[in-house]
Amino acid sequence: MIQTISRCSVKRTYRQFCTSEVCWKKSNVPVSKIINGRLSAIETRKRTKKQVKEFQEVAGRAPGLAVILVGDRPDSAAYVMSKTKTCAKLGMPSFQYNFPETVRETELLSTLDYLNHAPNIDGILVQLPLPKQLDEDRIIQYVTPSKDVDGLSLTNVGALTHYGDAVLKACTPAGCVQLLDSALDGELSGKHAVVLGRSDIVGKPMASLLLARHCTVTTCHSRTKNLQQHLKMADIVVAALGKPEFVKGEWLKPGCIVIDVGINKVPVSADVDPLSKKVDDWKLVGDCDFESCGAVASRITPVPGGVGPMTIAMLLQNTVNSAWARYKKSTEEAAEPDALLR
Ligand code: NDP
Repeated sequence: MIQTISRCSVKRTYRQFCTSEVCWKKSNVPVSKIINGRLSAIETRKRTKKQVKEFQEVAGRAPGLAVILVGDRPDSAAYVMSKTKTCAKLGMPSFQYNFPETVRETELLSTLDYLNHAPNIDGILVQLPLPKQLDEDRIIQYVTPSKDVDGLSLTNVGALTHYGDAVLKACTPAGCVQLLDSALDGELSGKHAVVLGRSDIVGKPMASLLLARHCTVTTCHSRTKNLQQHLKMADIVVAALGKPEFVKGEWLKPGCIVIDVGINKVPVSADVDPLSKKVDDWKLVGDCDFESCGAVASRITPVPGGVGPMTIAMLLQNTVNSAWARYKKSTEEAAEPDALLR
């Protein structure tokens, strides 16, 4: 999707542009620089909704998503709620499985067994992080690859690394690529991209996707030396460190594009009680210092309102992709019963 911004809006600041929902602080970053993830997510959801209807017409049911939530982390519960709400808006049934913090691994695995075989479930999402006593990797890898809408199974990771594409790609990096396409009009080839972070869910798949789009990719992590030197050479910066406002504008190459994946909850002022539960005492910030990075970069994603909305949109798109892929496979097998024996 190409984001168009009218000439008259260029002078407006992001503060004037955004709604209270999106705006997290006063900012002088011009609206022309903002990569608006909410708008891109709306476009993506519209497309997905159409595909849900098409699938329903052909298969006689809508694609279904199952979400597993363990424990009572408020952030995880909020993410899950937002995912199930979006499902409802798109006409997709979602099924939530809640477990207490103390759940045994065998219980989770038997639920996954059921979901792996359930014909009405096309996507299975295990909300991370899981409590420490559970073997997170074992649980993630237990999800059958054809329903792994988080794109974390070795099959999907392998396809992404080997072919540069997979039916089910990690949602956040896939959303970031869509935002980059909108900012660069699809011209990613030859750009030097620096990815900060090497997690399985963001950093590594992000690097694979950028490489597949012919970027020159540098992945940085906590042991990287001379981080600022790497950043100075970057046409594209994708920050996924989980460190509030870590990246400063003066570290960046003028005119670069900044995709800020980070979501960090920080107090609005130094005198906020760290245990405060008052909503007004907290704000969300990214891994980049928005003000200084926004002054140097040519385009930047805000937090919130940047990458976050795209992640959910891509999750639902993955569920539809999974539904189609599974449907096609089952009709092919039905048409050619001997195929299973070969
Ligand atoms: P992880 O904690 O799994 O990974 C953080 C990465 O940052 C690690 O690879 C770590 O390196 C690296 N890192 C830490 N400190 C530094 C440093 N000083 N310099 C360079 N690299 C460093 O985090 P995630 O990838 O899961 O998430 C990152 C951020 O993105 C978080 O704020 C998270 O909330 C957010 N997020 C947002 C999503 C969205 O939808 N917008 C979705 C997922 C995550 P090392 O490997 O060496 O430890």
